[in-house]
Amino acid sequence: MTSGGFVKRREIRYPNAMNRKWSLILPLIMGLLIAVVVGCSAGSKGRSFIKSSRERLAISLLANPRVEFANYHVSGKRDNATALDNLKQTAAGVPAARSSYGRAPGGFTQLDPQMLRAMKKLADEGYRFHITSIAGSSHSSRSRHYLGVAFDVNKINGVRVRRGSAYWREFIRKCEAMGATETLGPGDPGHSTHIHLAWPRPPGQ
Ligand SMILES: [Zn+2]
Repeated sequence: MTSGGFVKRREIRYPNAMNRKWSLILPLIMGLLIAVVVGCSAGSKGRSFIKSSRERLAISLLANPRVEFANYHVSGKRDNATALDNLKQTAAGVPAARSSYGRAPGGFTQLDPQMLRAMKKLADEGYRFHITSIAGSSHSSRSRHYLGVAFDVNKINGVRVRRGSAYWREFIRKCEAMGATETLGPGDPGHSTHIHLAWPRPPGQ
């Protein structure tokens, strides 16, 4: 009777001990899982895990050794709106910064995927080029640069853009074939050392 009772108590106590163990461990595991899930969603700040085409293009352009983005302004001013800054911002999924000096309006804009696609296509076709500005720097007051649809180039295949120098005319023609509707270069006022390639303004701007 006594030993039988002991065995019975052991039988009952053993599963209870297991339950108590799990009742301590399970909330810990659940807490950890919740922390991981909450941490992940906070890290992405609600942004989609699917990258936009402009993000993907910017990431690919930054990794392309044929396309160089200036990490300075031709004016010598310093801010976070150089061509390189604009590409990095776009690759990170945030708007591209504009400059705040001269006629530049400050604030931010989004880079045009069609323009980024043209940059990539030109590199894929074999051009090596140096971009001096996109949304940043000071340009004319209603410049398309401020809308993220224009970029400037001062060197193509190692040759500086000058009146009579190689490559820039065909580079302009290629951009026009890919949708650029405003192209300027040597011979146009203010463009003796660079070419300007611009795509249409976004609707209403
Ligand atoms: Zn320009």
